[in-house]
Amino acid sequence: MSMDGSMDQPPEQKKASRLRLRVTTAAESRLRAGHPWLFAESIREQNRPGRLGELAVIYDRRDCFLALGLFDPDSPIRVRVLRAGKPLAIDPAWWSALLDQSLQRREGLSDEQTTGLRWINGESDGWPGLVLDRYDRTLVLKLYTAAWLPRFDEVLALIAGCLRPERVVLRLSRNIQELAGKQFGKKDGEVVSGAPLDGPVVFQESGLRFEADVLHGQKTGFFLDQRDNRRQVESLAPGRRVLNAFSFSGGFSLYAARAGAVSVIDLDISAHALAGSQRNFALNQSLASVAACRHEITQAEAFRWLGEQRDRAFDLIVLDPPSFAKRETEREGAAQAYGRLARLGVERLARGGILVACSCSAHVTRDEFFAAVRQSAAAAGRAFDELQITGHAPDHPAAFKEARYLKAIYLKERKVGAAAG
Ligand code: SAH
Repeated sequence: MSMDGSMDQPPEQKKASRLRLRVTTAAESRLRAGHPWLFAESIREQNRPGRLGELAVIYDRRDCFLALGLFDPDSPIRVRVLRAGKPLAIDPAWWSALLDQSLQRREGLSDEQTTGLRWINGESDGWPGLVLDRYDRTLVLKLYTAAWLPRFDEVLALIAGCLRPERVVLRLSRNIQELAGKQFGKKDGEVVSGAPLDGPVVFQESGLRFEADVLHGQKTGFFLDQRDNRRQVESLAPGRRVLNAFSFSGGFSLYAARAGAVSVIDLDISAHALAGSQRNFALNQSLASVAACRHEITQAEAFRWLGEQRDRAFDLIVLDPPSFAKRETEREGAAQAYGRLARLGVERLARGGILVACSCSAHVTRDEFFAAVRQSAAAAGRAFDELQITGHAPDHPAAFKEARYLKAIYLKERKVGAAAG
């Protein structure tokens, strides 16, 4: 592999002088506090125009090194920080150590029973805008910034050389797909290394088998971030009638079925997602409890369906909707929507039932989300105990505010006459 130092700067850009930036004092303190983004409007001085993917050095007002990162002339996030604090050569050894750090951080999180795992979680692992997921022997490399594209071959060689997968699939966030195709000849869903692939791959999570649609699916093909919540749901599901709303491919449902849930309904607006759930149930029929569980799928808009099912009750309801706030201005509306959804969930809950309400909106904080759900539960006039609240799984670390999106709250209705606590 061509690890000859070219990861310092993309090869064609080596001759130009270092790109040097000076920034506002507010940005300076944010960077010092470890925030990984420098926004375009925070740049006070720049010695020359910068090119996509080159390393930009950010100096403080005393001309001391502050941080260094990947430059993107077309993104409002103009620099994504690779290193802050002390200057250090960004050479092959440095990249290799960065990868080792991410891998070591996840030691013990995967084994023969769990072959789906996030190896690299973007900024929070020091790889801004880059995600690497493992599904058995397939790796999915997802880029959220074009700034990686000029050094893509080197990054790929490093990762493939270290992890030796059967193949690597490249996924690109929508906003960079056109540029990636035109300037770098890279396509979303392309196998960029190793054996060809024309469908989903099968991997294991906690001994259950799942498909991941790595070529075309949402995120990298599966919602690995909910693994720990799925495990929790398994422990709560025995003997219960379960509703998995916004089920996607039935992740929570399979855990519930294995635990001995009496029945499970997958509710999703997408026929494609529900077909995935049926295939995932089929993949696990060798497990007696999965085979014995009554599994149904329902394709519907969840708010409407929950509102209509006045004569149905469930003992365990999981609500895991897509993000309700894509931008800050949608925050308040989103918090209200979480509240309405929780209320609909509580209304469908049988006596002594458990509600698991999740949110993946980074713009809605933990406190806002929990408050909205608690309020809805209280407004229903029923008493609930809070079993637990959860956040990010250890393979999805979140080191700064914008990265903290996942939260869940578990409420269980108190049995009449039972003591509080
Ligand atoms: N809980 C899942 C992930 C859920 S992703 C897991 O653990 O894997 C969110 C899902 O909500 C997607 O499958 C999407 O199709 C579905 N969805 C989005 N809007 C919806 C709506 N209004 N009603 C029902 N389902 C919806």
